[in-house]
Amino acid sequence: MKFLLLSLLISSSSFAKVVLIDPGHGGDEVGAVGYLDSKKTRRVYEKDLSLRLAKKVKEELSKTTTTYLTRSLDRQVSLQERADLADMVKADLFLSLHFNSSPNPKGHGFELYYLDNNSNVAASKVERSENLNLKGEELIVNQILVDLVVQQTVSHSKELAAKVHEKIRHIVGTHKVIDRGIKPGLFYVLALSKRPGLLVEAGFVSNPGELHIINQEKYLTDLAKGIAAGVQSYLDKK
Ligand SMILES: [Zn+2]
Repeated sequence: MKFLLLSLLISSSSFAKVVLIDPGHGGDEVGAVGYLDSKKTRRVYEKDLSLRLAKKVKEELSKTTTTYLTRSLDRQVSLQERADLADMVKADLFLSLHFNSSPNPKGHGFELYYLDNNSNVAASKVERSENLNLKGEELIVNQILVDLVVQQTVSHSKELAAKVHEKIRHIVGTHKVIDRGIKPGLFYVLALSKRPGLLVEAGFVSNPGELHIINQEKYLTDLAKGIAAGVQSYLDKK
């Protein structure tokens, strides 16, 4: 019996980890909207950029670990449904992929968020836009649940953020996207998933100059490789 238990422990530690990749928004919920031209005819939706990036991250990461997407098509998925999928696939990590937006067209840069309930004025705007439900209303999430999840995940999420940041900061720099670093944020999809995870804001759709960069296949491919390498380096240590 002792031997059986020991062999179970050994084999469970070598089980492949499961990563759930979550492309933000989808369907009628388009996320941020930007334009590639001044006449506003060439429109780009955040939901499409996030799906393109998510598929690339999955392609990279699935070479070494088990990965799933919360959506692989242009369809609406609620924040709760995304979180429920984390239970269904028994995800170890949750990666939510988004692009940013600001009323100031000069707003720019790349940001990595981990779940924390510290108040952060700079982050409040983006938190609101990512915390809306399918009807566009802000979700109300039990503060006790958020506190518990933060307690259980924050050290892992910070470590994951550091690993991913280490791999992507040069990549975004090469593409002339400013690295705004790692920040705490209150994102309900991260709280609801109850896993260590990150929310990536991979550039501003609302900044016409930056939109030209982040809409490029090369930016998305390079970034996906960096994110996957960072996640892998975190998993290798586990
Ligand atoms: Zn978003």
